[in-house]
Amino acid sequence: MSILSGKGKVKLNGQKGLTKDKPILSIEAPDVVYIPLVLGMATDFDVHVKEGDHVCIGTKLATRKSMYVPIYSSVSGTVKGIEKRMHVSKRLQQHIVIENDHKDERVKAIEVSNPDDMSQSEVFEAIKELGLIGLGGSGFPTYIKYSHPENIDTILINGVECEPFLTSDHLAMKRDIKALFDGTQFLMKAADAKKAIIAIKEHKPDLMEMLVEEAKNYPSIEPKEVPDRYPMGWERVLVETVFKKEYDKLPAEIGVIVNNSSTAIALSKGIRNGEPITHRVVTFSGNGVVNPQNVEVAVGTPVNYIIEKIGGYIEDPYDETEGFLLGGGPMMGKSVMNDTFVIYPYCNAITVLKKENIKPLPCLKCGECTLHCPAHLQPVRIMQGEKGANVELLEKLEVDRCVECGMCTYICPSKIEVTDMVAKAKRRVQLAQKRKNA
Ligand code: SF4
Ligand code: SF4
Repeated sequence: MSILSGKGKVKLNGQKGLTKDKPILSIEAPDVVYIPLVLGMATDFDVHVKEGDHVCIGTKLATRKSMYVPIYSSVSGTVKGIEKRMHVSKRLQQHIVIENDHKDERVKAIEVSNPDDMSQSEVFEAIKELGLIGLGGSGFPTYIKYSHPENIDTILINGVECEPFLTSDHLAMKRDIKALFDGTQFLMKAADAKKAIIAIKEHKPDLMEMLVEEAKNYPSIEPKEVPDRYPMGWERVLVETVFKKEYDKLPAEIGVIVNNSSTAIALSKGIRNGEPITHRVVTFSGNGVVNPQNVEVAVGTPVNYIIEKIGGYIEDPYDETEGFLLGGGPMMGKSVMNDTFVIYPYCNAITVLKKENIKPLPCLKCGECTLHCPAHLQPVRIMQGEKGANVELLEKLEVDRCVECGMCTYICPSKIEVTDMVAKAKRRVQLAQKRKNA
């Protein structure tokens, strides 16, 4: 069954009004930043600096070993060493500790002498050397998508931002509209694509007006509205909505590469100014913060430092009865038990919610979770498989295809944390497969 014909998409209460009309607040980096040596699940890094080294904003600190991705310093100052700290993944992970000298000395990560005359391979190399990754939350290395760009016709820029509360892409696109189009053009060059589409959600007339105006300078780039439904920002749903075509594994099969809007902006700044990803716009929102707003901060800044700068919590989120904090949005974000973890390059939001003391009811076997799953899985059966630790059944139910979109929990009338159970089942299968292959 196609995603287009499936029920799988719902309109959520966006709650975007909390932040979307406030300007982005630039917050000065703290005295110490902690750059995580983590990218998605990967933690294999070669570190190029040692204790006592002087670094600038833009100094290359480390490189991922198994898949080349450099990471850069977000402040100037002195390397103090490497330390294990709590990470958003809820694990202790290695972080490079840098004492900020607040001098903001900068070095360029790359030097491009004539940005408007770059070849396809030069743009590809720039994407790679800048350490460009999916800034919409995936953290996936961008250059991989451009390694074999055969028969790519269209670059699809994903500015949909379909989760409630999140407005960081929205505000970044408005502020950096020129860089958005410029970066999109570089991405087209990297794939030798003829055209690009910038997709945003409907009912954003302010942004759409700006996109239409800017597109007059770029005849090959088309702004497009898509329905306000969740999970429209999921690559598969977005591609099928825009192109009315399905693909098996990758959008490239139908001639499309998808990148997040903030990734396109970062590429323009990287090529034009030599800036790697050292800072980013993050939405701090939810009903648990005094002043929900978007902030621009250095990668490696602790979350509690930022919360304090924007006015603090309404109530203590760590009081079990009062609230909780999520790294990400309310649908796909991961709840984290403390706020000492730092902003990482692909962190688009921190959401603080008051806890609702709702007790889950027994499963009604209503099938709503199955009807609404955008990946066409059977969450209710997966839950049963997980309860029985039945790996064989879980494999048969293809739990590995779950994208942890949060829809099954959202839709469940019994208020069961279905997504958590499915995510657990997914890990169980991954672990079993790892053991089998070891
Ligand atoms: S979290 Fe997974 S199982 Fe649940 S609706 Fe989303 S894709 Fe389907
Ligand atoms: S939506 Fe909730 S109650 Fe209905 S079948 Fe799924 S888990 Fe059970």
